[in-house]
Amino acid sequence: MTKVIIIGGSYAATKAAKLTLEIDPIVEVTMVTPSSSVFFNVASPRALIESNIVDQLIIPLKKVLGSTLYERCTIVNDFADSVDLAAKTVTTKSGEVLVFDYLIVASGSQSKSPAFKMNGDCETSKTTLLSYASRLSSSGTVGIVGGGVTGVEVAGEIGSLGTKKVTLISGGVSPMSAISKLSEKAAKKLKDLNVEIINDLKVQNFDENLVNLSNGTTLQFDLVIPTFGNKPNSHFLPASVLDDKGFVVVDSHLMVKGYGNVLAFGDIADIGDNTLIEIDKRQVPVLKATLGHLFKGTNLVEYNENKMKDTIIIPISRDGGVGMISGWSVPNFIVRMLKSKTFFVDRAASIF
Ligand SMILES: Cc1cc2nc3c(=O)[nH]c(=O)nc-3n(C[C@H](O)[C@H](O)[C@H](O)COP(=O)(O)OP(=O)(O)OC[C@H]3O[C@@H](n4cnc5c(N)ncnc54)[C@H](O)[C@@H]3O)c2cc1C
Repeated sequence: MTKVIIIGGSYAATKAAKLTLEIDPIVEVTMVTPSSSVFFNVASPRALIESNIVDQLIIPLKKVLGSTLYERCTIVNDFADSVDLAAKTVTTKSGEVLVFDYLIVASGSQSKSPAFKMNGDCETSKTTLLSYASRLSSSGTVGIVGGGVTGVEVAGEIGSLGTKKVTLISGGVSPMSAISKLSEKAAKKLKDLNVEIINDLKVQNFDENLVNLSNGTTLQFDLVIPTFGNKPNSHFLPASVLDDKGFVVVDSHLMVKGYGNVLAFGDIADIGDNTLIEIDKRQVPVLKATLGHLFKGTNLVEYNENKMKDTIIIPISRDGGVGMISGWSVPNFIVRMLKSKTFFVDRAASIF
């Protein structure tokens, strides 16, 4: 029987398992993942101020896959430690050697703090979130390190409490400087929440209370929350298939160059913008076609980077935020309706 190994256990990996078994119900699917649950990290900024939702962010794989698919998959609860692409083997951290015909690498990326990404087991994300939430309740001053989307969302949530002095250290020319169409609007909304923004200075180092900046100053806070990161989980792959940042180099069919039986899918692939929209709208159709081609000889489709380009919705408090759909700016009330109100917590399982 054809053996497919999927490395990872989050959005991309669970979608890959569903697609694989949908295309060929008789292949043998093995998922290598350190956790038996998934982590709905999308709502982690809200969980910092509403810790009662944390349990809803941890969802068992069985629920996400559904009982039938779950029974059809072999789940190996471990990290992939090395992959031999020529011998077609994956060796786990505990030393188990698994053989594959096809490999789908869906091991994503990690953030500095496990509060925002499933860096290992979901329990670590849960305990980190709960610890931040508890320390936050007794903190008067909060320093947020990193001005990407996560930093802006976290600053918005904590700023909206109206009881903390929040400082966002963007590390760049402005918060969300990579999303120039929304950057200024986001900064204005944060300032309206009395969030202080520090731009143009790099963070040299930080701990739970102190942040050292590149101009030699040291800032002191009751709580420091790092929100940056996005480091690829790819140490187990040979450097020859990685780009200079550690993401897996793929062609327009998500195939790893030089290995027609190895695919990369989700954040770990060196394409796209590391979002769920990227996975659902741009990569899923390609993965589906590539698996169909490999298993059934059907036609390939090309990756299209322009599909739903410039689409992102960013809550800045429960009352709204900023966003754009296909490059068109969306008004505050739409952001509120689409995401800020609930952060999708009520339908988290269906997003995997
Ligand atoms: C706070 C936050 C909010 C976000 N909100 C949104 C949003 O609203 N909309 C949106 O489109 N995007 C959002 N994103 C981006 C989104 O989280 C990512 O695009 C998504 O997580 C990518 O999914 P993935 O499955 O590719 O990788 P990941 O979610 O990073 O999952 C990687 C998986 O691989 C596992 N793994 C890692 N190393 C190994 C190993 N060695 N062996 C086996 N398994 C391994 C991990 O445990 C995990 O299960 C957000 C990101 C953050 C940080």
